[in-house]
Amino acid sequence: MKADMDGRATPRDLRVLVIGGGIGGLCLAQGLRRAGVDVRVYERDAAVHRRNQGYRLHISPEGEQALRECLPPEAAALLTATANSRYGYGMAVYDERLAEQWSPRFTDPRADDPDKVDAVDRVTLRYVLLAGLDGIVSFGKQFTGYELTADGEVTARFADGTSATGSVLVAADGVNSTVRAQCRPADRPRDLGIRTIFGRIPMADAVRDGLPGTLQDRFTWIMGTDGHKLGLMPMVFRVPPEEAVARLWPGLVIEESEDYFMSVFSMHRSLLGMPDEELFAMDGARLWELVRERTARWDPHLRRILAAASTDATFAVAVRATRPIEPWEPGPVIPLGDAVHAMPPSGGVGANTAVRDAAVLCRALVAVERGAVSLEAAAASYQGEMLKYATEALNTSLEVARWSLGRNDLDDLDDLDG
Ligand SMILES: Cc1cc2nc3c(=O)[nH]c(=O)nc-3n(C[C@H](O)[C@H](O)[C@H](O)COP(=O)(O)OP(=O)(O)OC[C@H]3O[C@@H](n4cnc5c(N)ncnc54)[C@H](O)[C@@H]3O)c2cc1C
Repeated sequence: MKADMDGRATPRDLRVLVIGGGIGGLCLAQGLRRAGVDVRVYERDAAVHRRNQGYRLHISPEGEQALRECLPPEAAALLTATANSRYGYGMAVYDERLAEQWSPRFTDPRADDPDKVDAVDRVTLRYVLLAGLDGIVSFGKQFTGYELTADGEVTARFADGTSATGSVLVAADGVNSTVRAQCRPADRPRDLGIRTIFGRIPMADAVRDGLPGTLQDRFTWIMGTDGHKLGLMPMVFRVPPEEAVARLWPGLVIEESEDYFMSVFSMHRSLLGMPDEELFAMDGARLWELVRERTARWDPHLRRILAAASTDATFAVAVRATRPIEPWEPGPVIPLGDAVHAMPPSGGVGANTAVRDAAVLCRALVAVERGAVSLEAAAASYQGEMLKYATEALNTSLEVARWSLGRNDLDDLDDLDG
């Protein structure tokens, strides 16, 4: 850390190494690049799109604000153009025979703003977050460990035998963070006992196959009487991603996508009747067989649309949460996103919290580069702010998980409530 004899910070040229080119890491890279800070991102995946990411993300007002703060105007325009266009800020709850139980409305400070971004396709978002980062993001770089150097820098090592040295190392490597495993091995997220099968149902097929109109434009939950639950969330692109790119950023590579429903089929592991190894070894076709078996007595409309699912975009997840969320030692290794605060996807807040981290950390690192504050003080103040909103987001997502799955269905929480 660079400070003068009185301990005051002085301007310095930072080099920020970001481990993980997911939602939070790329958002941070955009913000730092925009502010002129030297940043490099190292991503394990060989390429931008890998299987099991083709789902929809709810974007909160705070998440949208953070994305807009970090993205340059051209990328923000792409974000707006490719957002979801059909989302009443409400939810409908049905039983398995499709009898409506409850349909709460939520307030959204963005009201009917035609440009609001309240849901996006995750793969499209990743392309938007990568726009303009050529030469900054390296794919196929699996981080394996780091060392602190004698002069206060950090060296990151990769599985291909290469290494990189910088002044800051940001752990943006997600829920199974390798950085966290090295420096805070006890902070592993806890298993909440929920097993979820995520899938994607092409919208045209679902509608053609008779999905009732009431289920087509909002977030819907189907609560099975035997403890199985199904969520259906529409993703209707405002403009197809390839058209948006042709208009707003000709030449940029983006993947084509069609409108779809994200489906979320959840149950407690005690209902599964099989060990995790068996569940996680199943391919998409077998996972859908399992869903169909478990919904055999549900309303025929629902069964028909489940039959329209794309099996190759299906995957199972064990829902986990980091609780309590704890700050890391303030210094050159700084965490962001799921690496420090994993939360159940039920709340739709994990990615929003990761991009908020990116915006707050970006401001903190820019202040270090300008000499307004030391790196240790910036890391501490970022984490102080993050702990407040991330704990709130975690509690919200746990509440939603309790509500949607039944309080007694969550493992490992009661002992944490006090
Ligand atoms: C099905 C599903 C639905 C969800 N829905 C929502 C939603 O609606 N709204 C919401 O806010 N959140 C949602 N979430 C949560 C959200 O996806 C995560 O909270 C968010 O992606 C966290 O961002 P991140 O940058 O911390 O991690 P990630 O986006 O997971 O990125 C981590 C990156 O690090 C890379 N990486 C991992 N290990 C290494 C390594 N050793 N070396 C190099 N790179 C590495 C990974 O490949 C990955 O690209 C959902 C999650 C799931 C699974």
